[in-house]
Amino acid sequence: MDFRLDEEQQALRESVRDFAREVVAPVIGEHYEQHTFPYEIVRQMGKMGLFGLPFAEEHGGMGGDYFALCLVLEELARVDSSVAITLEAAVSLGAMPIYRFGTEEQKARWLPKLLSGEALAGFGLTEPGTGSDAGGTRTRAVLDGDEWVINGSKAFITNSGTDITALVTVTAVTGTKPDGSKELSTIIVPSGTPGFTVAPGYSKVGWNASDTHELTFDDCRVPAANLLGERGRGFAQFLRILDEGRIAIAALAVGLAQGCVDESVKYAKERQAFGQPIGNYQAIQFKIADMEMKAHTARLAYYDAAARMLAGEPFKRQAAIAKLHASTVAVDNAREATQIHGGYGFMNEYPVARFWRDSKILEIGEGTSEVQRMIIARDLGM
Ligand SMILES: Cc1cc2nc3c(=O)[nH]c(=O)nc-3n(C[C@H](O)[C@H](O)[C@H](O)COP(=O)(O)OP(=O)(O)OC[C@H]3O[C@@H](n4cnc5c(N)ncnc54)[C@H](O)[C@@H]3O)c2cc1C
Repeated sequence: MDFRLDEEQQALRESVRDFAREVVAPVIGEHYEQHTFPYEIVRQMGKMGLFGLPFAEEHGGMGGDYFALCLVLEELARVDSSVAITLEAAVSLGAMPIYRFGTEEQKARWLPKLLSGEALAGFGLTEPGTGSDAGGTRTRAVLDGDEWVINGSKAFITNSGTDITALVTVTAVTGTKPDGSKELSTIIVPSGTPGFTVAPGYSKVGWNASDTHELTFDDCRVPAANLLGERGRGFAQFLRILDEGRIAIAALAVGLAQGCVDESVKYAKERQAFGQPIGNYQAIQFKIADMEMKAHTARLAYYDAAARMLAGEPFKRQAAIAKLHASTVAVDNAREATQIHGGYGFMNEYPVARFWRDSKILEIGEGTSEVQRMIIARDLGM
């Protein structure tokens, strides 16, 4: 077992670290304050090949793997989480369902644009009335001739309303199974389809430079050929997508946790109190040591989950552990980093204020901490 990065992985990490510090850091505070989507950063990430990282070259990807994506997410989130979640959602929730389950026609039509970052896709699972209990989906799609007619709504959908959003994949009830349970399927809805409405962006606590909307479908018609994969496989599809996504969110959480350490070390060396830098006080040193320990162990947890996934082994439990632990650690580190910054930690101009506001959602999105505990317990046979 060797968790050290090889030369290629180190080079990728270094190049994204430089990009985050030199390109993202100087401008992201302004986007965050103004609640604007960072199109120019997304364009540059596209040029770097980040949107195509874990996909095969034959579809326009970079031929890398999911772990490479996680390394990139960690480095981006070390500086800013809005940018990191934009990439995470675009790749693991947007393009991945089409890559994994799409027909050759669907892949040929959508993947080149999505993998180059020229276009984004959203993943519409959550609804206003149901999130954790995703099987409770109420959106319906009825086959009428050679078209699906979709009615319903989706809540909190990332990347669903940008100027470059090309489509959303939507889970919908398409019938009833022989055992009486709902038949769920996934359908591709291109942006601009009549009957598909994107509400104005939410007013959020954090992730202010990322794009999130409620979507409504009112007799929205798309071709029957827009069914993603097999009819009735919607539940299995999103479970697979979310299992993988948890590793990516864990990586993002580790980045935020590490960013809190970076900022705290810097600040503790500069800030003077009682005649010396606050970093000379053991109370502050111990806080930072604990923060570093937490970021490190959370990193090992996501490395382990990713390694199992890439080896083709079961990884559901480890992905849930990584997500649960890393998101807890991110919230802990953001709270302590703010404390170390004193009053300045409460000022939006300091990155730790952004980290604090961005950390809480990590315990909620792509499965709450309670849901992760349910997955772990179930995997233990309970
Ligand atoms: C900024 C943002 C971006 C998002 N992006 C997307 C996206 O791109 N696509 C998408 O589909 N969704 C997205 N979501 C939705 C997100 O995944 C859900 O909010 C999340 O899964 C929780 O669902 P919920 O909000 O309905 O909470 P609920 O499911 O209503 O849960 C409320 C509380 O009850 C707890 N709870 C529920 N069931 C149980 C139980 N059985 N036992 C114990 N506790 C329980 C939960 O843990 C939680 O604490 C996003 C959300 C946000 C805020």
